[in-house]
Amino acid sequence: MKKIYILLLALFFLATISGLTIIQLYWIRNAISVTDLQFRYQVNKVLENVVQSLEEKEMLGKIISEIDTSGKNSIKTILTLPEKSGVENLNKVDADGKFEIYGVAGTTNPVIITRKDQQIIITSEYESLTGTDDTIDYISGNSGSDFRKRIINKIVSLENIMKKMLSNPPDIRERINTSNLISLLDEALFLSGIPLKYEVAITSGRYGIVWKTTGYHDSSGTNRFMRQLFPNDPVPSQNQIILYFPHEKQYKFEKIKLLGLLSIFFTALLILLATGTFIVIFRQKKLSEIKNDFIHNMTHELKTPISTISLAAQMLADKTISSNLKNIDNLAGIVADESLRLKYQVEKVLQTAIFEKSRLKLNLVETDMHSLINKAIESFSLQIKAANGTIKKDFQAKDPVIMADEAHMLNAVSNLIDNAIKYSKEKIEITISTRIIKKNLHISVEDIGIGIERQDLKRIFEKFYRVPTGNLHNVKGFGLGLSYVKKVAEDHNGSVKAESQPGKGSRFTIIIPKNKIS
Ligand code: ADP
Repeated sequence: MKKIYILLLALFFLATISGLTIIQLYWIRNAISVTDLQFRYQVNKVLENVVQSLEEKEMLGKIISEIDTSGKNSIKTILTLPEKSGVENLNKVDADGKFEIYGVAGTTNPVIITRKDQQIIITSEYESLTGTDDTIDYISGNSGSDFRKRIINKIVSLENIMKKMLSNPPDIRERINTSNLISLLDEALFLSGIPLKYEVAITSGRYGIVWKTTGYHDSSGTNRFMRQLFPNDPVPSQNQIILYFPHEKQYKFEKIKLLGLLSIFFTALLILLATGTFIVIFRQKKLSEIKNDFIHNMTHELKTPISTISLAAQMLADKTISSNLKNIDNLAGIVADESLRLKYQVEKVLQTAIFEKSRLKLNLVETDMHSLINKAIESFSLQIKAANGTIKKDFQAKDPVIMADEAHMLNAVSNLIDNAIKYSKEKIEITISTRIIKKNLHISVEDIGIGIERQDLKRIFEKFYRVPTGNLHNVKGFGLGLSYVKKVAEDHNGSVKAESQPGKGSRFTIIIPKNKIS
């Protein structure tokens, strides 16, 4: 698949996911505002009901306290029911004939309030009205002039009560019964399904806050719901009830939490899956490129010694050239060198086979690392000599014996020395040192070569990774040497680290624990 197609596909995915995320966010925002609106509507309704109840209760309380309820069977008054009347909020105790009958609780002399259509009749006992057809008839039917007078007097007295009440509204501080207010609020909130702790205050234009619950604070981040108290007073007052819920935000958040969390979760999952898929696609692509490079390099590395050997063989077989001219010793030397090079290359390719196994099958024996390092140095001695280079030994480990697989360990150390030679500049100067630090044997191979840039240093132990070849180092390789070293060290329960300064040199250290290997 071409890189451009993969990129286009990735862009398409990105656009789709972004679109989906935007839609999700839009829906979540919508859900938040609907929840908010619903909440405000419910709380406003609660406040409206509470304020209405307070007003109705006050009015009824006043009427009841003013009228005389001691006379038996006496009709106290008839008055026209206002549009919204507190009477409706009283407990219905009975229904008989054409009258709806309401009782008022909590008074020492029980009062019966009887309602018919827009009229209410207040008596001390309701029996006086039962059995009659119509209120007005009842009144007129029983009236002598005395009786009529009494009624008129009572109407006048009730009118006076109302006048007094309306023209002289009492001080707000005496008008509110707080425990009554709390129980009204509790009940209304419960019925509206708002199970939240609330704080409430009563304020007056003249006195400021006249009463508040203990947790009430003036400054709060949550919504404040306000409503005018006693809105039907003839002179509208500036008395207000203020209500807020300290945990309103949490409550609303709880309501949309599941929806929000689920959409965040699935969007994140989608992004993760898409990203994962593209990472895999890119890795596969990179891997196939690397494999092609590897095959290309390998054939090149193998072809050179093979063609040199076959050339030497052709010369040996050529009968037209005399034996003297052939310089057989020289040709034999070339064949030997090139076959050694071939062997080394094949060995390297074979090393790749170990990556297929999760863990190497190690043949652990007590190994003296100093003699193993000497053996490795020995195999490079001709090469070093030819390049006029030096290998310095700085063996400081007192006891260099560890449990190791000799063959793999020799390959690992050889790879490091080989790299130190390959990536040296004109001068080859290598130092190999050993130390024991905290029961670990450290084997370092140090050079003064081209060094490695910081960003490459992190990746050189990856399989097939090669620092992009510049003018400075045009050395062929498979990018497998260091990953092999890492694998061998780790399978010996150890590790490998690289330190480098670009242009100055590098130091690779294999660290193997000295305690017994499991
Ligand atoms: P190869 O040498 O076959 O390319 P390696 O796995 O041995 O593969 O090394 C990976 C890369 O690390 C090399 O391509 C090289 O750029 C860098 N590298 C390794 N050793 C050294 C060193 N001693 N000095 C500078 N660069 C090095």
